[in-house]
Amino acid sequence: MTGSVKTDNQSTGIGLLGLGVVGSAVANAVSQRHRSEDPSVSLNVVAAVVRDASRKRDVTIDPCAISTKPETVIANPEVGIVVELMGGVDPAFDYITSALNAGQHVVTANKEVMAKHGGELLATADENNVCLYYEASVAGGIPIIGPLMNDLTANKIQSVRGIINGTTNFILTKMSNEGAEFNDVLAEAQELGYAESDPTADVDGFDALYKISILARLAYHTEVPVDVIHREGIREIHAKDFRYASELGYTIKLLAVAQANADSGLLARVHPALIPLDVPMASVNGVLNAVEVEGDLVGSLWFQGPGAGPNPTASAVMGDVLRIAKGAVNDGGSSSVPESFAIASMADHECQYYIRLTASDRPGVLANVARVLGDADISINSVLQKDTDTENGRADLVIMTHPAREANMQSAARSIRELDTVLQLDSLLRVETYGARS
Ligand code: NAP
Repeated sequence: MTGSVKTDNQSTGIGLLGLGVVGSAVANAVSQRHRSEDPSVSLNVVAAVVRDASRKRDVTIDPCAISTKPETVIANPEVGIVVELMGGVDPAFDYITSALNAGQHVVTANKEVMAKHGGELLATADENNVCLYYEASVAGGIPIIGPLMNDLTANKIQSVRGIINGTTNFILTKMSNEGAEFNDVLAEAQELGYAESDPTADVDGFDALYKISILARLAYHTEVPVDVIHREGIREIHAKDFRYASELGYTIKLLAVAQANADSGLLARVHPALIPLDVPMASVNGVLNAVEVEGDLVGSLWFQGPGAGPNPTASAVMGDVLRIAKGAVNDGGSSSVPESFAIASMADHECQYYIRLTASDRPGVLANVARVLGDADISINSVLQKDTDTENGRADLVIMTHPAREANMQSAARSIRELDTVLQLDSLLRVETYGARS
């Protein structure tokens, strides 16, 4: 096979690796296409590979086409486009590699394999002169890979910043609106099917990390390995933090950011952040995703929409499939020459910080904390004393700092924890910098 997709005069053969939530939606979309009147884009599912072929499925494809045999798809001359919708690295990486080496085009929604092995897979696609498209791997139905890969290439990208995990955004939005605690909202999200029974990938930030690694590679034409990306999840956020943040003019979101310039290098980070209430990102609620791209020519661009779900994800997958079926070819640019951005250290990142601590309600506490911060070259912007519990002699102290270096803040946090007047350092959150605000 040499990358030609038409398996007969009329139709392009599709082989599905995976027929779960997204795979079923794609299979149904392909069936609808097959019945359409336009022969130039006629598609048909030749075979679908699953783990358990006996499972009942709500799909409009011939049950005989469903099996556990990868060879029904990979290197099958009837299959011009392999659509990988299994997820994970093993065996997806091997299956995608084999399909590309067999001269088949591949479309995937798999963020993990594209984050961890995207460079290698794209090089394999180039060697075989076939396409490897992955629009659905980041932000579900939102077209963001295509714009970064095509429309924005004339720009030097200053930053890519987004809410790219719907599960955590659903949880944080509910915590903010209802004053609920993380564990209660997580349980509700699991009941509603918005969170997995093992929520680690979402709530600990891995999913967002894979996605920002993919976006950073595209924006900066350089590999951004997942292990150089700073990652923090949302388990430590409390209802109180939303209340205090709101009094200060902020909300809290899980942000994924990649930013670069010649002086500071390239920094990618995933962590909860205080967002000013008057910027658009603060109003991205529920399972919605949004990505903001800043380019030197275009200025600020805003992409918002459904970041997951069977049909929005199938929309992105089908866009890639149809592009190939209509004759898109590998332009050899997918693994373009890396730029020379050094990877910046999170320790050098500078921003304002929000600190919440439980302190003894007695004189001198604030002076002690201010001294520790001052010793680390951090100055205080504002202080709130809240929820004073006179019976137990304790109060919440909420401190906003002026911009400070991450390494200094972490060192000060260690010292604050050791102060005998501080019972607990409950929260340490970064404030995201927008324009000339901070
Ligand atoms: P899913 O519902 O769990 O489906 C996975 C499918 O792959 C199932 O059909 C499963 O077979 C099959 N499979 C898994 N391991 C296999 C193996 N070793 N051999 C053969 N078949 C195997 O997952 P999904 O939600 O559709 O997600 C698929 C991909 O899309 C993932 O990469 C995910 O990150 C990405 N994605 C999903 C969404 C979303 O909203 N769900 C959004 C964007 C991107 P059985 O059916 O027999 O178990």
